[in-house]
Amino acid sequence: MTYDTIVRGGRIVTTSDVVTADIGISGGRIAAIGVDLGEAAEIVDASGLIVMPGGVDSHVHISQPSGPGIEMADDFASASAAAACGGNTTVIPFCLPEQGQSLREAVAAYRAKAEGVCRVDYGIHLIVKDTDPTTLGQDLPALLEAGHTSFKVFMTYEGLALSDREILDVMSVARAHRAMVMVHAENEDAISFLRDNAEREGHTGPFHHATTRPVPVEREAVHRAITLAEIAEVPLTIVHVSNGEALDEIRRARRRGARVFAETCPQYLTLTAEDLDRTEFEGAKYVCSPPPRTVAEQVACWGGIERGDFELYSSDHCPFRFADTAGKDAPGARKSFRNIPNGIPGVETRLPILFSEGVVKGRISLQRFAALTATNHARLYGLAPRKGSIAVDADADLTLWDPTLQRTIRQVDLHHGADYTPWEGFEVTGWPVATFLRGQLVARDGELAGAAPRGAFLARECPETVM
Ligand SMILES: [Zn+2]
Repeated sequence: MTYDTIVRGGRIVTTSDVVTADIGISGGRIAAIGVDLGEAAEIVDASGLIVMPGGVDSHVHISQPSGPGIEMADDFASASAAAACGGNTTVIPFCLPEQGQSLREAVAAYRAKAEGVCRVDYGIHLIVKDTDPTTLGQDLPALLEAGHTSFKVFMTYEGLALSDREILDVMSVARAHRAMVMVHAENEDAISFLRDNAEREGHTGPFHHATTRPVPVEREAVHRAITLAEIAEVPLTIVHVSNGEALDEIRRARRRGARVFAETCPQYLTLTAEDLDRTEFEGAKYVCSPPPRTVAEQVACWGGIERGDFELYSSDHCPFRFADTAGKDAPGARKSFRNIPNGIPGVETRLPILFSEGVVKGRISLQRFAALTATNHARLYGLAPRKGSIAVDADADLTLWDPTLQRTIRQVDLHHGADYTPWEGFEVTGWPVATFLRGQLVARDGELAGAAPRGAFLARECPETVM
């Protein structure tokens, strides 16, 4: 036998080309791309299907500490099952230390949670919330050198938000180790001011989560984060950009030479703040930060996708159960939106939503889809060329798409630990019908395939910062 597997006759997508050819896989890697590749132990007929690089979702939250009494709905087993069924082969969740836990201890414990149960490959981003000398001087450098080459800082959330000075100190560690800084950009003081005012006026329902985090809160923080990165001389990724004004700040910064990358998410392309205004506490299902905005801001974000202003399209999967006092229905949540855990599930629906709304509706090419969902994630987070593209010697991480299959997104079909999807009833055209991780089938027709989880930890290289 020449190959372990040949994927035959699919339309293969890279960031530059779409070609109909065969893929020969040996030892979990792509050994050849061509025609008449010869013999293989297994032939996968991909005629009529599109062969994409397996999705890389570089912004997911799994088993993350979420405050007293609150529990995230997904562990690595359920989140990675959802990821695989949704066409992904790599996820990069965030490691957040518990109160009093060092970053190094937190990473060791977090890796143990993934070991043996994860169905897709995984890297780990760090969240830096402590800026003491041990964290910045010892733990962070050691962890960066060990392949956790990106980390997130927060400008919002009590207990997580860093001051400008602290952000600069963290950025200088990134500069020394050529790591990627990611920032959650919202102005905490402005939010707390608006939130106190809203509560005083009796505006306490889920909808006011959105009104107390308006566009200027994000726009200002995006501008400030970029400015700090310019001062510290580091590249920067702005995660979950939700609106046109924030995107304008990014474009303006690029024009003056700042090295800044931008991510958006399905919620900012398909949901609005009106969803938070649903009755019977249903609005809580849509509480995430930044909040979904208006149709006009959706249009602005789509413009960014179409023009290439966004390098990354991620889920920001952050699942909480709805009918659960350890989730959205937390103590006090019905009295004030401030007690509703922030975040929505989306790892399994990320790709079908962009395929349908982006590719099928003619907004973006197949090549742009591959870049936004896989290739750019791998490049910006140090996984290229092994991950994120269909190329000789890369891992055989492949997702086969039926571009004509029509599906309605329904909670009952999904694999995440949440008890709802924000996209219930959302109709899509195009669906990932088979996912291969390093040459092995891990999901087929929306269900898991293959017995044991075989996802492995990925030590990552330094990010590529020239795209
Ligand atoms: Zn997030």
